[in-house]
Amino acid sequence: MTFDPQRSLAEVRREFGEHGGVNMSIEASTTFTVLLAESMPEIFQGRLGPEGGCYLYGRHFNPTVYVLGRSLAAMEGTEAAYCTASGISAISAVIMQLCGPGDHIVASNTIYGGTYALLKEFLPMKTGIEVTFVDMHDHGAVAAAMTPRTRVVFCESIANPTLVVADIPAIAEIAHTGGAQFVVDNTFSPMLLSPAKLGADVVVHSMTKFIGGASDIIAGAVCGSADLITELMDLHTGALMLLGPTMDPKVASELSLRLPHLGLRMTEHSRRALAFAERMAERGLPVVYPGLPDHPQHGLLRRLGNEGYGFGGVFALDAGSADKAFELMNILQNDYRFGYLAVSLGYFDTLMSCSASSTSSELSDEELAEAGIRPGLVRFSIGYTGTLEQRWGQFAEALQRVGLLGVL
Ligand SMILES: *Cc1c(COP(=O)(O)O)cnc(C)c1O
Repeated sequence: MTFDPQRSLAEVRREFGEHGGVNMSIEASTTFTVLLAESMPEIFQGRLGPEGGCYLYGRHFNPTVYVLGRSLAAMEGTEAAYCTASGISAISAVIMQLCGPGDHIVASNTIYGGTYALLKEFLPMKTGIEVTFVDMHDHGAVAAAMTPRTRVVFCESIANPTLVVADIPAIAEIAHTGGAQFVVDNTFSPMLLSPAKLGADVVVHSMTKFIGGASDIIAGAVCGSADLITELMDLHTGALMLLGPTMDPKVASELSLRLPHLGLRMTEHSRRALAFAERMAERGLPVVYPGLPDHPQHGLLRRLGNEGYGFGGVFALDAGSADKAFELMNILQNDYRFGYLAVSLGYFDTLMSCSASSTSSELSDEELAEAGIRPGLVRFSIGYTGTLEQRWGQFAEALQRVGLLGVL
């Protein structure tokens, strides 16, 4: 793969601050003046817009949010992008834009719990959209699930929490053959995977995770064609415009200042996760990490991934039982401050949670088993505070104390 998101980001047209500041100003306005009264109707008719420097109202387009969107588009290699107040609002807006009552979605059975609930319960109940969940790794099952009404195929680039890597080019082909659009949630792998460059039509992000990087902001983004973004912002029929999950310009400014070091952060998350996973694997522990040669999609991720960013910052360890998992996490947090017992990921410190009883609790026991989410599976989003050796020392000691690791 020759695409490099970091390079592409650096080529985005820079906006200076109002007084020549190196950072853009925050456009803290909800409404905008037009120079001539005649411009107003043109804006409403969609003939004048952000590219011409004409703004209407903050829920439609805000310049600061718009500039962040331009960066996201550069990072994902799409024509356009727009940012939202959360990842889940980006996902729901895209799906509602692309599907109507009676339309059909083929979705992966291993996705973020909130997205699962949206697709399994909320949208079918409220909109009549139908959803079939499949194992995205089983391409035959994906093809078999397609119907003439299938408008969207949906999956995560690296699935939560099983860390199954999607074969994006192969699934894109199935989706396109069936006349559907392929929407990929790239929250787990910004920088390392560029789904749009591999055949996806739309890329969505929860910027709450790695992109934000400090667990202080809820935010999302939709990256896709200029036509899709225009449709989402249409004054009469746009899901983003009319459902209104608008990003605050102050948040957009903050996130803009974090994109320049996202590449560095992802590289270090990946370096630490790989070191931990390798050391656990050497000691015979049941660890799941796409950077390990025995991971079923290790070769695939090597082939699809952008060079230099590693295999991601998340690994999963099967502690054997929920009790053992709880014991391990309690020790790691309360005795060592190794990390925090919290959902979410992409923080500078380590976050750990037991997926079956937290972020994937929307799934039934049967669905959990089907998706390979065992009760003792602990998801670690590895941080980069402290040193690697210091953190490994804490981790190994905790593993030893709960009996998962013999004497070192
Ligand atoms: C967190 C998460 C979401 C939802 O994002 P919010 O910003 O919390 O709305 C969607 N997809 C994945 C993979 C996530 O991890």
